[in-house]
Amino acid sequence: MNIHEYQARELFEKFGVASSKGKVASTPEEAEQVAAAIGTAKIVVKAQIHAGGRGKGTFVNGFKGGVHLVHTPAEAREVASKMLGQALVTNQTGPEGRVVNKVLVAEAVDISRELYFAILVDRATSAPMIIASTEGGMDIETVAEHTPEKILNISVDPLLGIQPYQTRKIAAALGLRGPLMTQASKLFTALYRTFIEADCSMVEINPLVVTPEGRLLALDAKFNFDDNALYRQPAIVAMRDTAEEDPREVAASEFNLNYIGLDGNIACLVNGAGLAMATMDIIQYSGGKPANFLDVGGGATKDQVSAAFKIILSDKNVEGILVNIFGGIMDCDVIAHGIIEAAREVGLKLPLVVRLEGNNVEAGKKTLSESGLTIIGASTLADAAQKIVAAVKAA
Ligand code: GDP
Ligand code: MG
Repeated sequence: MNIHEYQARELFEKFGVASSKGKVASTPEEAEQVAAAIGTAKIVVKAQIHAGGRGKGTFVNGFKGGVHLVHTPAEAREVASKMLGQALVTNQTGPEGRVVNKVLVAEAVDISRELYFAILVDRATSAPMIIASTEGGMDIETVAEHTPEKILNISVDPLLGIQPYQTRKIAAALGLRGPLMTQASKLFTALYRTFIEADCSMVEINPLVVTPEGRLLALDAKFNFDDNALYRQPAIVAMRDTAEEDPREVAASEFNLNYIGLDGNIACLVNGAGLAMATMDIIQYSGGKPANFLDVGGGATKDQVSAAFKIILSDKNVEGILVNIFGGIMDCDVIAHGIIEAAREVGLKLPLVVRLEGNNVEAGKKTLSESGLTIIGASTLADAAQKIVAAVKAA
């Protein structure tokens, strides 16, 4: 799960990570009021979407830049009116962009240096890893490609947590000395605490800035959270913005289905993540393109199967469906009833291949064949994939 920058700043406030003053606004008038309340000579207006690269982005209405410096509350209103309700295209959004529903209005600070600081979970060490660089304000991927020596990696022992000698080492590598080193140690420690206590999988501050007055501030923030920990993070879940997510994935999460939308033509409904991956592979191998990953889990109910069908069919690119169920825990007959009910309810017209195997499979096959629906049966996985690809080509 991701959150917006303005929400990240709420977490900063809670955990004591220094940032600039700011508040979110949903209308141009509100943006003007917030700017007036902040009262600084310079104000920054920032489009709130779940994607980076906003500064260099362009709105579909031609307005350039999702991050703007202005000097008066009236100008803040003007800029907000050009951003709100418009899609912003950045190098991370895809060509259709993301619609901006809120803007962050913040005190604009003067910047002497832009740095980079991130914490993520490193798979190689199974531990939190700190990534820091003097090259802030640009893509870390670009820095990694051209000047990898400017990136510092520090592994943190998850039991000990971040140690003072480590924060000092990072600060020194970033050229932060004296009072700035003290601020840096405090900021890095607070951010590490945020990372752990909020069950993040990544926090990225780009840029972390030094001001001419010698303040160290997190000016941008990107957070990713571990979805498997959301059950114990109600405050984070409350920050979820489903408008930023794929509507198919939002619907799937309501029914506890593991669904990921792709752009192929053959949908699949499978139980078990490994089997779902294998099914996608074999669809591709047989000349089709998978339209999704969908794992209905080991104990799917009729309602879940029905919901899964509706989500699959809401995808306009889908030309055929392959159901591949191994009834281990699951009863094949329950699946069969779910398929029939869903197919009737949605008036299914697309080719449907069903491969059932395992627990109560004979009853399941009987239910399907007596349903009166045109369902193509298949025995093996390869057989199923070939049949659905052929049926789609013939249709
Ligand atoms: P991103 O483009 O989505 O990563 O958005 P950022 O929040 O990182 O803003 C983009 C750039 O705008 C930053 O790298 C800064 O150079 C600039 N910027 C953002 N906030 C301020 C500010 O308060 N003052 C100044 N002078 N520049 C800012
Ligand atoms: Mg940034």
